[in-house]
Amino acid sequence: MDKSQIIEKLLNGEMKLYQIEKYTDSIDEAVDVRREFIEKYTSTSLENVSHYTLDMDNVFKKNIENPIGAIQLPLGVAGPLLINGEEVNGEFYIPLATSEGALVASINRGCSTIKASGGVNARIIDDKMTRAPVIKAPSAVDALNVKKWFEDNFKELKEIAESTTSHGKLLKIDPIFVVGDYIYPRFVYSTGDSMGMNMVTIATEKVLNKMAEETNAVHIALSGNVCVDKKPASINMIEGRGKSLVADILIPKDVVEAKLKTTAAAIAEVNTAKNLLGSAVAGSMAYNAHYANMIAAIFLATGQDAAHVSEGSIGITTAEDRDGDLYFSVNMPDVPIATVGGGTSLATASEGLNILGVKGDGGARKFAEIVISTVLAGELSLLGALAAGHLARAHQQLARG
Ligand code: NAP
Repeated sequence: MDKSQIIEKLLNGEMKLYQIEKYTDSIDEAVDVRREFIEKYTSTSLENVSHYTLDMDNVFKKNIENPIGAIQLPLGVAGPLLINGEEVNGEFYIPLATSEGALVASINRGCSTIKASGGVNARIIDDKMTRAPVIKAPSAVDALNVKKWFEDNFKELKEIAESTTSHGKLLKIDPIFVVGDYIYPRFVYSTGDSMGMNMVTIATEKVLNKMAEETNAVHIALSGNVCVDKKPASINMIEGRGKSLVADILIPKDVVEAKLKTTAAAIAEVNTAKNLLGSAVAGSMAYNAHYANMIAAIFLATGQDAAHVSEGSIGITTAEDRDGDLYFSVNMPDVPIATVGGGTSLATASEGLNILGVKGDGGARKFAEIVISTVLAGELSLLGALAAGHLARAHQQLARG
C-alpha cells in the first residue's frame, strides 16, 4: 500500500492510527504518513514538528505511540552553580528547557549569589520509590488479617519482589492502611539510578500474585492512589517519595545587598508572609514560591517524566535574618528522578544529563543534589526580587507617612 492509499484509508476510518507501521517500510515513514494524515484531517501545516533528530525507531519502541514528530523548546543554561554536596562538589552549568522568559536569567542571578557566598550545601535525606495497590478482603477483620500477612511474610515477599529486578530492593511495606474491607499497603523500594515506576510496578504485581494464592483478598488496582504517583499528596510530603532533599546556604549581608538588592529581613518577611502564611491560608501543600519552575525546566532538559513536576512542586522554603546575613533553605520531600531508563535515553535528554556529567549508572544521587541546588538558586532569586519590590513599595508608601 502506498502513502496516499494509507492516508485515504485513515480518512475513511478504514484504518486506525496505530496500524500505520504495519504498512510502511520504516518507522520514519510511518511518522511522516501519520503526520500528513493529521495535516489533511485538520487542514493545517505541521512543518515544524516534522523536523527532529530523535531516533524514531528507538523512541517508538520505548517512549511513544502514534508518533507524528517532535516538539522543540528553547534550551538555556544557568551557572556556574557552586555546590558543596555529599555526592557532588564543584561548579555546574544547568540545562533548562523553558518558554518562560526571565526564568533562566533569574536562576542565573541565584547562581551568582550562591557563588559569592561560597556555595550551596545540598544533601539527600532519603531515596526510595513507592507503589501502593488497593486490595479488597471480605470484611474489615479479614482486611486486618491480610495486613498481618504482609507483615509476617515480609522476608519471603521481599525475595519474590526482588526476583523481578537486578537493581530494585524492597525496603519495607509500610504503612499499610485499612479502610473498611480495603487494604492499601505502601511498597517502598530503592531503585538505583532509575526513577523506578515500571520496576516497582512489575515487582509489586508479583507479590500480589502470591497474596492471591495465600489469602482471601483480591487486588482491585495495582495503584490505589496511596503511592502517590503524579499527584501532590500529604503522604509524600510526610513519608517522602523519590529523592527527599534539602539544601541551605548562609548569604553574607553584603552579598544580599549587592546581588539581590534587598535585605535578609525583607526576604525573611516575604517568605513568612507568602510561602508559609499565604500557603496556609490557601490550603496549599507547596510552601514555596516556585519550585515547579526549576523542576519543570530541568526535567524537560534531562528527559524526566514531566508529570512528576506535580510532585516536585511541593516543599518548604525557610528564610532567617541572622544579624543581617540571610540563612535560606529549600526542602523537597518528593523528587522522582533518573539518570537511567524512561526518557533519559532520548538523544537530547542524554545531552542535558551529559552537561551535568551524571548520565547513566551512578548518576542519580549526584543529579539529585544538582536539582535541589538549582531549585535553591531560583527560589532565592524570586524571593529576592519580591522582597526588593516589597521594600520599594514600603519606602514609597510607608516612609511618606
Ligand atoms: P525503565 O526504563 O522501565 O527501566 C529501567 C531499568 O533499567 C530498571 O528496571 C533496571 O533493570 C535497568 N537498569 C540498568 N541500570 C540501572 C541502574 N544503574 N539503576 C537502576 N536500574 C538500572 O524505567 P523505570 O525507572 O522502572 O520507570 C520509568 C518509566 O516508567 C518512565 O518512562 C515513566 O514515564 C514510566 N512510568 C510508569 C508507571 C507505571 O505505573 N508503570 C508510572 C509512572 C511512570 P532491572 O530491573 O532488570 O535491574
